[in-house]
Parts: sequence; structure tokens; C-alpha cells
Amino acid sequence: MDLLAKLEAIAQRHARMKALGGDAVGVVNEKILSPTRAIIDGRETILAGTNNYMGITFDAECIAAGQKALAEFGTGTTGSRIANGSYALHTELEREFARFLGRKHCIVFSTGYQANLGMMSGLAGPRDTIYLDADSHSSIYDGCTLSGAKLVRFRHNDAADLDKRLSRAEEDGGGKLVVLEGIYSMMGDRAPLADFIAVKKKHGFQLLVDEAHSFGVLGPHGRGLADEAGLEDDVDFVVGTFSKSVGAIGGFGAGDHPYFEYLRFAMRPYMFTASSSPASIATSIAAIRKLAAEPQRRRKLAENSARLFEGFKALGLELGCAEASPVVAVRCPDEPSTIAMWNALLKAGVYVNIALPPGTPNKLCLLRCSVSAAHSGADLDRIIELFGAVVAQGHGKKVVNG
Ligand code: PMP
Repeated sequence: MDLLAKLEAIAQRHARMKALGGDAVGVVNEKILSPTRAIIDGRETILAGTNNYMGITFDAECIAAGQKALAEFGTGTTGSRIANGSYALHTELEREFARFLGRKHCIVFSTGYQANLGMMSGLAGPRDTIYLDADSHSSIYDGCTLSGAKLVRFRHNDAADLDKRLSRAEEDGGGKLVVLEGIYSMMGDRAPLADFIAVKKKHGFQLLVDEAHSFGVLGPHGRGLADEAGLEDDVDFVVGTFSKSVGAIGGFGAGDHPYFEYLRFAMRPYMFTASSSPASIATSIAAIRKLAAEPQRRRKLAENSARLFEGFKALGLELGCAEASPVVAVRCPDEPSTIAMWNALLKAGVYVNIALPPGTPNKLCLLRCSVSAAHSGADLDRIIELFGAVVAQGHGKKVVNG
């Protein structure tokens, strides 16, 4: 039996997608011109699907910090921190992030994906239960699998459903970890944190919030949803990534528990992989200082998010959530029309994400935009105009040739 024979269905689906005019999952940015512009298929394109929320990837100070670290510390760390030791940059980054987050401890990982794998598997083991929002990111599900903990899914953003499941659970002596996200990556909606914390007070679990899309974005200090809601004291652990508002690559887990530092010796995705490169770490340090010093970036992002959200609403598009968010998802009728609309948008000069089942909640077909503080008003108006031309026409009816 050919092990790869099971990929036949994927191959066929990919061929169907390409037959509609483009390869929506194989886009190549031939040149990146700025946080909001790239050359794709030889054309200058507005980037509206990059999670570059703060538009910080071409910041001169961040680039200089990365270049300096390359020159002083070399191209790579060539090993894990447990085996090879840390670089001074790693510990500086952890101190900076702990300070920014107002937490006692912070552990840095090579990616946000690994941060979730590490935190979930370090916090929970086979005797424990992890309660997951049904729309959780794949890295959270994978972390749960790695932990060996019992998995209980509750309905998306439904604190009453979590309450019911906790009330039904038999006491087995194990710990309970509940995992939420600040902003959900596909639909752009936020967790109703206060409702979940009321359930926490009733049942007494430990709470982890993945602020991947909300870190740097929400709250008076830019620390995420819990900061915005004024509920940080009720959140035990925070996870985040450097690949979005920080504009680099890496991830973190943070908390105040007195044993938190010992997680380093209990998390395989921390122990058995190389630590991230000096350039990436130094860039992240420079970026977090910027985010702390320049709250106007957050205000600009909120303003831009509202402009795109309202513009799409005025077009009568069905959106992923009811309030403005830097993630703006447009619901589309079916897979062929979503692909056709995506192709037409790219040809017209705007890149957005295509999101199809099984990677989406409720098997939805989505065109997902992410807004940046670096988008100009004219960029956003152009995106709205193109959605008006392409998507509003295809919305609700089949568009075969974009
Ligand atoms: N958590 C969430 C909610 C995410 O959306 C993502 C990535 N999109 C990650 C974690 C993983 O982050 P990274 O891409 O930096 O590995």
C-alpha cells in the first residue's frame, strides 16, 4: 500500500481549485515592498491577509536590531536552550515580555504553534481534563493531543455550555484547564471573557487565553482581550505569538504561578527543538518596545478595522462577527464561488485569505481579511470598492469565472 495514496482526495481538490484560475493556497510573493504591498504574479498588490496588524515588519529600528544581532550572534542558535544554553537575547526577550504583560514569568518558544503545544502539554497530563472552545485553533487541539489529557469541547463562546459540562463532569482528582482565544482567527469575534470568568469562580478551573490575534491589538496596554476587559487577574496563563503584531516569528507563554519556570523541563516543544534565531529574537525585543511606546498604532488599527467593517456592512456582505475587529471575514456561498471571488480579487490587485472547510467553523467558506495599522484610508477604500465589484455580485449566487 502506497502511504501517500491517501492524499488522492487532497490532490483532486487542489486540481479543482487550480482549474478555477489560480492557486489560492500556493501564492508566491515575488517581492515584498512594504507591510501592505507585494508583487504577486508580476503585479503590485495590496496585502489584506497577512496578520501584520501593527505594520511593523519594515520598521527601521526593528530591522537595525535584527541586523545587529545577526552580526553579533550569528545566523542561528543551532540547538535547544536546555541542551545548548540560552543566548542573552532570549532572557532579555523574556524579561521584556514579562514586563509588558505585567506577569512574573514568560517563556519564549520558536513559534506560536509550539507555544500552544508546549503550554498545553506542560500544564495538563493524562490525569487532567482540557475544556476547549469548539472553534479553537489547530495548535490548541494539537497541544491537547500531545498532553494526553481528556478533551471536552464546549460550544463556541458559550459559557453556559461550559458550565453545564463542568457540572456534569465527575470529580476524578485531576486538574481542569479551560482554553479560550482573545480574538478568534477565522471569524474575528472575541471571547465573552467575563461570562467565562463567572463560570471559573463557580467551578474553580485554571484558565489559559491564547491572545495570538489580540496581543498588541486590544486593551489600554495592548496586552490583549483580558487587558481590554480589565480581567487579567482572573486569567492564569497567557499564550501569544510574535508572528502577528510583533512582526517576527516566535511565541510565548506567561503566568504568575510559582512553579511556572519548571514548565521549561516539562514541555517537549520547548526542550527538543532549536531556539529561534538571534535576528528574530532581537527584532521581537525592538518591536515590543515600539508597541509599548506607540499606542497610536493600536488606535490607528482600531480606526482602520472599523472603516473596513463598516464599508463591508454597507455593501450588504455577511460578516463573521457583529463588531469591528482586525479580522474581517466575509461569508461566501460555496467553495467554487469563494475560489472564483478570491481569484478575481487577486487579479484586481488585492490579496486576502481564502478559508475553506475543514479549516473553518461550521464548514463555512470565507474570504478573510486582516487589517493593518499601516493600511491607508485609500487602501481600505480600494479593498471595499473591489469587494463591492467582485464579491457583492458573487455573494449569494454562484460565480464560476471571476
Ligand atoms: N494561536 C492562534 C489562535 C493562531 O491563529 C495561530 C496562527 N495563526 C497560532 C496560535 C500559531 O502561531 P504561529 O503562526 O506564530 O506559529
